[in-house]
Amino acid sequence: MPIGANTRVVLAARPQGLPKPSDFRVETVGLPEPADGELLLQILYLSLDPYMRGRMDAAKSYAKPVEIDGVIEGGTVARVVRSRLDGFADGDVVLSHSGWQSFAISDGTGLRKLDPEAAPITTALGVLGMPGFTAYAGLLTIGRPKPGETVVVAAASGAVGSVVGQIARIKGARAVGIAGGPNKCAFVRDELGFDAVVDHRAKDFEAQLKAACPNGIDVYFENVGGHVWDAVFPLLNEFARVPVCGLIAQYNELPASGVDRLPGVMRDVLRRSLTIRGFIQREFVEQRPAFYEAMAGWIASRKVRYREDIVDGLHNAPDAFLGLLQGRNFGKLIVRVSR
Ligand code: NDP
Repeated sequence: MPIGANTRVVLAARPQGLPKPSDFRVETVGLPEPADGELLLQILYLSLDPYMRGRMDAAKSYAKPVEIDGVIEGGTVARVVRSRLDGFADGDVVLSHSGWQSFAISDGTGLRKLDPEAAPITTALGVLGMPGFTAYAGLLTIGRPKPGETVVVAAASGAVGSVVGQIARIKGARAVGIAGGPNKCAFVRDELGFDAVVDHRAKDFEAQLKAACPNGIDVYFENVGGHVWDAVFPLLNEFARVPVCGLIAQYNELPASGVDRLPGVMRDVLRRSLTIRGFIQREFVEQRPAFYEAMAGWIASRKVRYREDIVDGLHNAPDAFLGLLQGRNFGKLIVRVSR
C-alpha cells in the first residue's frame, strides 16, 4: 500500500552521442511499505559520476545497462526513515546504491553505516568514497610513483584527479595537473598544491605540457583520452606506467572510422617498455580499509583537500550530469535530493 510519493529519474531513451534532456524523464510514483527485513531509505545526496554514461548504452560492459524506463543507478547517502531490519534504526545514515530517486526500499545488502560526526556525509560519495578510492588504488598499485618522478593527471580539479595529484605529492613525486580553464587551473595549483598545471583548452597546450614536464612523464593517470592523451603520449619516459582509469572525452563518441594509430602506439609501447593497464576500482576491494584509514589521516592533516560541487534538487540531476560530461562541474558533483 503506498505511504507517500517517490520522485525518480528514469532513462527515457538511449542517448546517441551526448545525452539530451529528452533522454531522461522525471516521474512520481507511490512508495511501498518496507516488508519484514527491509528498510525505507530517504535519499539525502546522490553522486553523479561519469560511469553512468556507459550504463545508458545497451552495449556490453563490465556492468549491466540501465533498462529503458528504469531508474538510473547511482551511489547515494540516505537516512533510514523506517527500519524493519535488525541492525538498523530509524535515523541511521547509510551509504547505499539507491539511484536517481528520492526514496528506496533496501534489504540492507551493500549498505555501509556512516558516522556524521566523523566526516561530512557527502565525503562518502567523493574523497572518502569511490572516487577517492579509485585514485588511491589506481595510483599506488599501478602507477607506483617514486620520489622525484613526474606524475601527470587530467581532470585534475575533479573527484579522482584532485586526489591522484595530492597522493603523488605525499609520495614525494612531482604532480602536474591538466584542467579545463583558468579557474580550475588556479584551484589545482593554489588550493591543491600541485607543482604545475596546464590548461588543455589553451591553443599551445602541447607546448605548455612539455615545458611543465622537463624530465618527461613517469606516471600518467589517464582519466580523459582524446586530445589530452595525444599530448601526453610522446612525453612518456622509458618504463612509464599508465593506469587507465577513464576516457571521459570518448564516452559520447559514436562508432567512427579513421586512421588506425594502434601500430604506432604499440611500437612505442615496445620501444619505451611502457606499462598501460586498465582497471575498475572494485578489483582492489581488499585495499578499502587501508584507504579509509590513510585518507582520513591525510584529510585531518590537510595533506588532502577536496572540493564538492553540490546541485540542489533531483529534477536538476539530468542537466548537472550533462554538465559533467562537458566539464561544467567544478569538484565532486553531488545532487542534494532532500535536506
Ligand atoms: P570529474 O569530477 O573529474 O569530472 C569530469 C571532468 O572531466 C570534467 O569536469 C572535465 O574537467 C573533464 N572532461 C570532460 N570532458 C572532457 C574532454 N572532452 N576532454 C578533457 N577533459 C574532459 O570526474 P571523476 O573524477 O568522477 O572521474 C574522472 C575519470 O575517472 C572519468 O573518466 C571516470 O569515468 C573515471 N573513473 C573510473 C573509475 C574506475 O574504476 N576505473 C572509477 C571512478 C571514475 P576539465 O574541465 O578540467 O577538463
